[in-house]
Amino acid sequence: MFKIGCHLSSSKGYVAMGKEAVKIGANTFQFFTRNPRGGAAKPLDEQDMAAYVEFAKEHELVTILAHAPYTLNASAAKEDLREFAFEVMKDDLYRLSFIPGSMYNFHPGSHVKQGAEVGIQLISDHLNKVLEHNVNTTVLLETMAGKGSEVGRSFEEIQAIIEKTERKDMLGVCLDTCHVYDAGYDIVGNLDGVLKEFDRVIGLDRLKAIHLNDSKNPFASHKDRHEKIGEGSIGLEAVKAIINHPLLRDLPFYLETPNELEGYAKEIALLKECRE
Ligand code: FE
Ligand code: FE
Ligand code: ZN
Repeated sequence: MFKIGCHLSSSKGYVAMGKEAVKIGANTFQFFTRNPRGGAAKPLDEQDMAAYVEFAKEHELVTILAHAPYTLNASAAKEDLREFAFEVMKDDLYRLSFIPGSMYNFHPGSHVKQGAEVGIQLISDHLNKVLEHNVNTTVLLETMAGKGSEVGRSFEEIQAIIEKTERKDMLGVCLDTCHVYDAGYDIVGNLDGVLKEFDRVIGLDRLKAIHLNDSKNPFASHKDRHEKIGEGSIGLEAVKAIINHPLLRDLPFYLETPNELEGYAKEIALLKECRE
């Protein structure tokens, strides 16, 4: 089964997202758990969640991915910001426990002049605290482009976080194609080599999801600006190789390209055509 979807607005709830996904030919989707630039979440709507679980069964929607807000920084220098990160993630994971099989993705953090080593320690401290409360949702560390003081710019940094976290069984990785290409992993010229490197450093069994994006910027630019599929520096041929690669093809793919629903529908149709 080709698991393909895109980022959807969560403002109208789960059932509304499920219906949108079906409408655009997707069988999965990603969404923000709350305002990506804020903090407060909507009141928990158990009825909507239960109705979604039924809807998903009926329409064969699989493995939806919740994305943490950008304001969550587990490696912030200020303690109150780290406390905020803890409360948000704990609450998000509690909410997701109502949607079996869902996963949770977050940007590891920004170390804001403390250095990557301190950042890595703070993120794993955070995970050790949060995962005590987590029952059944796999938490994914997203690979980052390495702009500013982002932690997770290399497979080594991601692995260092996993290494220091006790509940390794709850952790996975989400590979963002725009981010890794911007970070200097040549998925265009040497996809096999990059996957080999991922396997050597982290282990491919940790890879649970792909953010499928083209990039507005050249290789190793450390920029992180997503482009529509086939219109950036990665290009359609490389995207084809990614969605068909034997080591990747069974993973869920989530588009985060600059599109409205209609554009997403077109990209999903195109990708289905490209699927071998
Ligand atoms: Fe992200
Ligand atoms: Fe992403
Ligand atoms: Zn990005």
